[in-house]
Amino acid sequence: MNVPFLDLRRQYLSIKKEINLVIQKVIDDSAFILGNYVGEFEKNFANYCNAKHCIGVNSGTSALRLALMAAGIKQGDEIILPPNTFIATAEAISLVNAKPVFVDIDQESFNIDPKKIEVAITPKTKAIIPVDLYGQPADLDPIIEIAEKNNLKVIEDACQAHGAEYKNKKTGSISEITCFSFYPGKNLGAYGEGGAVVTNNEEFAEKIRMLRDHGQAKKHHHKIIGDNCRLEGIQGAVLNVKLKYLDVWIEKRRKNVEVYNRLLKDAEVLTPKEEGYAKHVYHLYVILTEKRSRLIQHLNDNGVLTSMHYPVPIHLQPAYSHLGLKEGSFKVTENFTKKIVSLPMFAELSEEEIVYVAEKIKESSANS
Ligand SMILES: *Cc1c(COP(=O)(O)O)cnc(C)c1O
Repeated sequence: MNVPFLDLRRQYLSIKKEINLVIQKVIDDSAFILGNYVGEFEKNFANYCNAKHCIGVNSGTSALRLALMAAGIKQGDEIILPPNTFIATAEAISLVNAKPVFVDIDQESFNIDPKKIEVAITPKTKAIIPVDLYGQPADLDPIIEIAEKNNLKVIEDACQAHGAEYKNKKTGSISEITCFSFYPGKNLGAYGEGGAVVTNNEEFAEKIRMLRDHGQAKKHHHKIIGDNCRLEGIQGAVLNVKLKYLDVWIEKRRKNVEVYNRLLKDAEVLTPKEEGYAKHVYHLYVILTEKRSRLIQHLNDNGVLTSMHYPVPIHLQPAYSHLGLKEGSFKVTENFTKKIVSLPMFAELSEEEIVYVAEKIKESSANS
């Protein structure tokens, strides 16, 4: 059997008629950039998140960068983030000439460890970016408390966590600013690039709206220096169709996780844990194994595709060598990244496929 890591075509086929129709409408209306389709999606996604404002942009990376710009982050400022995230979280900081300051992750949740944040704060620290890795919100209450005490902004990276909950509150309604990505493979994915900033802060929303469109307050009136980070009409229209199904797709992912967890209980791997405060949306299903290369090889040999998120932590990437952070700087992260394997995970994955993957995982440890 062949089990893909992710199969976007299955999802498309389930909503093909609606998608094709709406894309045709965008073309008929020539509503290619921003416009009504994007506006409608922004309204619906803000509602979905229980937040006041959603500003559609052209990627999750842009969402993070514009959020930092709107927060007034400038050269020399320090921003706290975990080293175990997609590189874009750090890049957004570097692109506004600020300095990423890493704080190690917690052993259990694999998200930033709130207990290690305060020692990393200096007079230059301006913001914390907690990342809701794999679809599970970071432990946000203590983070927000530390931020308030130290006069810092919290810019949440929920690029993997659309619809996830922290203490029964949806991502987008918790931190002052939350950033999302609609990269095609994300739980809510466009048919191209896309992202959004979600906030309850009116002033902030206004600023992001200007920044994404050349600093325009109104047409031909450029109040500040901005950029071109606009969301396309086709993406807004596609996202609007897909948003209606997001909760159903999340439940299917959670069902798939139940099956995986049950079947892997007696395997020599560690399965992910949902924290008591969280509703995990399982953008990724990541297991830990002491025998990674053998497991990946055995799965690949049997037609099962896997991935790793992320095998090299950011502080050990060549792009960040100038920070001078050597192996040993963040032990929990480093230890973790050597054991991780991301298994096939998407809503349309069949039980038969999961049973097959689990079988092959057990076979691999039995052969050792
Ligand atoms: C995907 C992702 C991003 C970047 O989003 P893009 O839309 O690809 O620019 C940022 N942070 C995290 C944690 C992500 O998973």
